[in-house]
Amino acid sequence: MGDFGKNAEAALASAKLRGNLRRAMDGLMAKRGAQFADADEWSRLRALGTNVRRRSLARLPELLRKLEETCTANAIQVHWAETPAEANQVVLDILRRNGAETVVKGKSMVSEEMHLNGYLEENGVEILETDLGEYVIQLAGETPSHIIMPCIHKNRDEIAKLFEDKIEGAAYTEDPAELTEIARKALRRRFAEAGAGVTGVNFAVAETGTLCLVENEGNGRMSTTLPPVHIAVMGIEKVVESLEDVAPLLSLLTRSATGQGITTYVNMISSPRRADDRDGPREVHLILLDNGRSSIHADADLRPTLQCIRCGACMNHCPVYSRVGGHAYSSVYPGPIGKILMPQISGFACYGDLPGASSLCGACVDVCPVKVPITDILVQLRARLEKTKGLSLGSVAWTGWKIMHASPGLYRLVTRVLGLVGGLIPRCAPLLRAWTRVRAKPRFAPKSLHRLAREGGFDHE
Ligand code: SF4
Repeated sequence: MGDFGKNAEAALASAKLRGNLRRAMDGLMAKRGAQFADADEWSRLRALGTNVRRRSLARLPELLRKLEETCTANAIQVHWAETPAEANQVVLDILRRNGAETVVKGKSMVSEEMHLNGYLEENGVEILETDLGEYVIQLAGETPSHIIMPCIHKNRDEIAKLFEDKIEGAAYTEDPAELTEIARKALRRRFAEAGAGVTGVNFAVAETGTLCLVENEGNGRMSTTLPPVHIAVMGIEKVVESLEDVAPLLSLLTRSATGQGITTYVNMISSPRRADDRDGPREVHLILLDNGRSSIHADADLRPTLQCIRCGACMNHCPVYSRVGGHAYSSVYPGPIGKILMPQISGFACYGDLPGASSLCGACVDVCPVKVPITDILVQLRARLEKTKGLSLGSVAWTGWKIMHASPGLYRLVTRVLGLVGGLIPRCAPLLRAWTRVRAKPRFAPKSLHRLAREGGFDHE
């Protein structure tokens, strides 16, 4: 929970942050644009992916039951958690049963939703982020600012300084390859020592009981194969029916997220280690987290929120996110998807200011690979939020506006009066203050368009 307005102002005051974000966003937008240069292909693939997501959500309860059945048949142990607290407890129970005191973790936004790291640390478990970006964030004691690139707000010299300060024996370098090598050396032996690996899941296939996990660094593969126990955490909406459904989603996800044709690693996990396998964990657990998703699913207007495949493209193209960065949102999911998801899973009391933090320009909708109607949902949420407020200055003003526009006589009277005395309304009047704080006061035209039309002989009344 935070104050978006205040945070955004602070973020905008940092030229360094704005520079870091601009460089990163320009690069990501260009790479994505190059991947979808063929408009027909984009349109066809997008329609296919959207159809997969809508079809999966239409059959969500049935597909989840099927997923549990097939995973269980594959010896993957399935756990259901209604809340993040329940999911955390399940993770801790599994770790304690297995005597695991250290955990290596692959990138997972659901684990961020659970605040898993803090919970495990409070309970005496050491947890180590192994995705490079997440590792940087963990060293810095921060939270991710982007769902795909968690440390996108930092530049090379900031990371170089951080490594020099926090990693024993690391010399200052701004060379990306050397920085990666430093992290690799610090992390590598920890995979083999860990008692368990925790990862997210990009898609789960109901028909085959397969967990699909994409990544670029190999840390996901090592987290899921080297420790004796693998725990995968997943939001319930990530299930799809068949392996054929995964192909278009994978293509849309990786091209939209990082502008890559495909990621370096695509992991398909269908069981723990079998008798003739040379490696792999002896136990695989899948935790299915609800955390408000069932309620979203039950609401026809809001359900499309769950189509999201967490590619992050809406953030990269958002004129708000690309200027203030992810931390301004004080939420697990920032940017356009965060503005619609956070109020739904955590409530208006915590995130009621986020639906308003948008110009409704629709750039997010244009690039969303699975057509999440973000602006429509933002408008829905704003309307619902207004209803919770009861009588407010805003609602009185809009009611007056509605009455005025429904009555031609009243409309003429009000516009004439405003044309005469509107200029006398002070700049700091309550209804104008939020607008005029950073902009000029709107000027009322001395004559309305209707009046000009009448005077010009176009009156048809
Ligand atoms: S809403 Fe669309 S663009 Fe944004 S993260 Fe989700 S899938 Fe990607």
